[in-house]
Amino acid sequence: MDCIFCRIVEGSLPSRKVYEDEEFLVFHDIHPFAAVHVLIIPKRHVESLQSIKESDEAMLGRLMALAPRIAASLGLESGFRTLINSGVGGGQEVFHLHAHVFGGEGSVRIPT
Ligand code: AMP
Ligand code: ZN
Repeated sequence: MDCIFCRIVEGSLPSRKVYEDEEFLVFHDIHPFAAVHVLIIPKRHVESLQSIKESDEAMLGRLMALAPRIAASLGLESGFRTLINSGVGGGQEVFHLHAHVFGGEGSVRIPT
């Protein structure tokens, strides 16, 4: 298995977990761009927004709906920023779908 996020899901690579349920895992980004910078990933390997199918639509809805719950649990009452890089041309470096959630100091200066 050469997907680092799948390795995090299966536990063979460590992560600083924030939240976990049957479908999703949330953990701190290893190179944070802001005071709070976490990644929401589906446990199932989905490469990118570029490769999603119609059958992934409900999962994507649940993933996005998780973002405000995670932000609230991390104390981001005043707001947060989400980002999904898709494909090489979209700046994606890890090819396991993930939504970045940023908040606090630095989060509004992140280039999009
Ligand atoms: P992206 O450019 O959207 O594919 O972002 C990938 C993100 O994954 C980057 O912000 C990396 O810092 C982060 N990352 C890479 N490896 C790890 C890891 N082992 N644990 C946590 N975050 C990671
Ligand atoms: Zn994966």
